Amino acid sequence: MTTYDCDVLVVGGGIVGLSTAYALTQASPGTRVLVLEKENGPARHQTGRNSGVIHSGIYYKPGSLKARFAVRGAEEMVEFCARHGIAHEVTGKLIVATERAELPRLHALVQRGRENGIPVRELGPAQIAAYEPEVRGLAAIHVSTTGVCDYGAVAARLAELSGADVRYGAEVVRIDRRPELGVAVRTADGTVLRARALVNCAGLHCDRVARLAGDDPGVRIVPFRGEYYELARPGLVKGLVYPVPDPAFPFLGVHLTRGVDGSVHVGPNAVPAAAREGYDWRTVRPAELAGTLGWPGTWRIARRHWRYGAGELHRSWSKRAFTEAVRRLLPAVTEADLRPAPAGVRAQAVLRDGTLVDDFLIRESARTIHVLNAPSPAATASLPIGREVASRVLQTLPRS
Ligand SMILES: Cc1cc2nc3c(=O)[nH]c(=O)nc-3n(C[C@H](O)[C@H](O)[C@H](O)COP(=O)(O)OP(=O)(O)OC[C@H]3O[C@@H](n4cnc5c(N)ncnc54)[C@H](O)[C@@H]3O)c2cc1C
Repeated sequence: MTTYDCDVLVVGGGIVGLSTAYALTQASPGTRVLVLEKENGPARHQTGRNSGVIHSGIYYKPGSLKARFAVRGAEEMVEFCARHGIAHEVTGKLIVATERAELPRLHALVQRGRENGIPVRELGPAQIAAYEPEVRGLAAIHVSTTGVCDYGAVAARLAELSGADVRYGAEVVRIDRRPELGVAVRTADGTVLRARALVNCAGLHCDRVARLAGDDPGVRIVPFRGEYYELARPGLVKGLVYPVPDPAFPFLGVHLTRGVDGSVHVGPNAVPAAAREGYDWRTVRPAELAGTLGWPGTWRIARRHWRYGAGELHRSWSKRAFTEAVRRLLPAVTEADLRPAPAGVRAQAVLRDGTLVDDFLIRESARTIHVLNAPSPAATASLPIGREVASRVLQTLPRS
């Protein structure tokens, strides 16, 4: 008879893996959950290197997982932070049109927000100034349910509350799956652990982990770095200020975010990263870069969106160009106001044909659930995502 070290083994101690662990023990007390995280603590990658925004859900296609989970997740995240004493604030946010060409897209967003059940208010220039005296725009919308929180602290609390055995410094390097027996995982130090089911929440490495398990993920994670500056005069911004997003690249567009500690972050942009954890231009991992360049989808994105890409690269290399982009929203800002701050890298799943997977993507195979696309707003939506993954994995668990 096979003996198992746990019922469910979760790869990845970011907010999605830890929320899944928490949801598993909530839904089915007594389930033995083991989380393996390669770093020496939780949330060292996307979860600990993001804008910290609790998104309202205004941007996402009605009915999509993103829309459903973000709207519900935002409310739950605020409650979770309040209940567990985690720094957070519901600040509201402005989405500001600075050019006439953006006005139809701003109106479409109002419509979308209403379809998603989100309270939105349309503002003219004078009302913009009432919220944000230094911000200039032709029109804006105010979304009252947006907030900020400390996602690293949320992840750490989920780890504690889950009661799971969370092991740090444990990189999964091999997976052996036998549908009738279960899953055996080997870590970099040679430890072998057996589980009845596996959940892959490996973020920037989720497609590789899927392949280790013998599954074809059908997507490749193409890493896009987001670089930030911190505002030396944080008093210039009171809350959260966003430009009108481009539907082709909803994650693009430098925004201004006052975090829970009162500092204001400016960014991120989006530039290709030469490593999955490539937090600066110097970090190059040839094998990972070759993997990205060898994916046909990468070249299709480059061909389709080179003009956009060139603009983003220019703003990455030229602080003056970056400052100019910020000045569209915040004319008072100068180059001297912008101090470099740590970057993050987004795990964006890309199809072979170059399509950026828009919605969250969760795939099942024998005894395994793979979370293959969990970009923004997955931190906001992490509690509902965790419940969804947990419910799917509990259904796959054999009764023996
Ligand atoms: C620049 C940026 C800004 C963002 N802003 C926001 C925002 O304001 N609001 C919002 O809701 N979302 C935001 N997001 C998105 C959000 O951060 C992510 O959606 C979320 O953190 C994803 O969590 P995760 O657990 O899937 O990934 P991660 O946090 O990356 O966790 C995955 C974990 O898996 C581990 N791992 C990988 N491979 C292995 C292995 N083989 N063995 C063991 N462990 C492994 C990694 O070390 C990592 O800790 C932003 C993202 C970025 C990059």
